[in-house]
Amino acid sequence: MTRHPPVKSSVRDLAVLGGAPSFAEPLYVGRPNVGDRNQFLKRLTDMLDRRWLTNDGPMLKEFEQRVATLLGVRHCVAVTNGTVALELTIRALELHGEVIIPAFTFVATAHALQWHGITPVFCDIDPTTHTLDPRAVEAAVTPQTTGIIGVHVWGHPCDIGALTAIAHRHSLRLLFDAAHAFGCSYQGEMIGRFGDAEVLSFHATKFFNTFEGGAVVSNDDDLATRLRLMRNFGFAGYDQVVSVGINGKMTEVAAAMGLTNLESLDRFITTNQRHYEQYRRLLAGVPGIVPVAYDAGERCNYQYIVIQVDEAHAGLSRDELMEVLWAENVHARRYFYPGVHKMAPYLSHGVSLPQTDRICVQVLSLPTGTAVQSANIETICQIIRLAVAHADHVRTAVQARHRRAPTG
Ligand SMILES: *Cc1c(COP(=O)(O)O)cnc(C)c1O
Repeated sequence: MTRHPPVKSSVRDLAVLGGAPSFAEPLYVGRPNVGDRNQFLKRLTDMLDRRWLTNDGPMLKEFEQRVATLLGVRHCVAVTNGTVALELTIRALELHGEVIIPAFTFVATAHALQWHGITPVFCDIDPTTHTLDPRAVEAAVTPQTTGIIGVHVWGHPCDIGALTAIAHRHSLRLLFDAAHAFGCSYQGEMIGRFGDAEVLSFHATKFFNTFEGGAVVSNDDDLATRLRLMRNFGFAGYDQVVSVGINGKMTEVAAAMGLTNLESLDRFITTNQRHYEQYRRLLAGVPGIVPVAYDAGERCNYQYIVIQVDEAHAGLSRDELMEVLWAENVHARRYFYPGVHKMAPYLSHGVSLPQTDRICVQVLSLPTGTAVQSANIETICQIIRLAVAHADHVRTAVQARHRRAPTG
């Protein structure tokens, strides 16, 4: 049980100014959403009785079927994780040369390409949706380009219409990294059926998890056949290997978790949406703190509570506010910082992405999900309000902390 801390009322109560931290235990971003434990344990018992632990087991088949039905797509090919799902799809679509992606994404989007000797070409994003800017995409197409990977960041769908038109115009493959977007829609249709394929991650920190896991969803029958071969060493029968493959199989225990969590999807979404609305209500009117908004006309998993800190109006930088929160044991996260284009393996690309750079120093992801309680959110928002209301005072205190402990 989390005990509810007293709400702080004076700036001197803030932990960066010497007050007691609001939370005795850290409050994390991305603690797993876990469905009905008894259902899960029952599935495990059945699995052990069957002694069928992996290799196209009954739970894997049921899981794939349910995901495909939920998303309204012909095929779901479940695999070990989202990164392997990306890699398999990249190979199955025979991408090569250059592929256009955002730099505002988890590094795996770029790694999956680079790992296969394909050059990720980083492209800038739209400052409101944080997804690929179609005009920048079109400008980045060269004779070497073979594909585009859009990322539905925070569950915001990319401008799928514009990206589809660009892909057609230039005969490019179009893939979506939908790791954030399970359960979200685009123009009323579930994410999962767009482009040549979409890739899901079921990592523990994602909205919906299978411990580790991922899937490729697609309406392309041939692609699905190739992916099924590739994830199982190219085996077409007991001892008939027809193509090169790897081991990307999802286990039965992961599928059991998936089936169980699918049964709680509505509860996860309801909780997340309630948290989202509470954050928006409690942060309304705080200068320089702009919550990233979801389109109320679309389905959404509300898994990410993201604020943009506008230093000029808040009087504090994102990093200063983050330090205030960490001192309270609120482990807010700056996502995708400093941008994939500024990470060691990709620095040599030397690209300039002004919008990405600006967003990378502004965004802060706050704790939500079924492990967080509404009283926790009240406390977090009060900390942010207090810090911004006394920004000068707080900034001085944060700088003094740095002088005492320069490595932070
Ligand atoms: C989590 C994530 C991945 C990687 O998924 P894993 O299942 O962790 O391998 C890829 N892309 C994005 C945008 C992600 O958030």
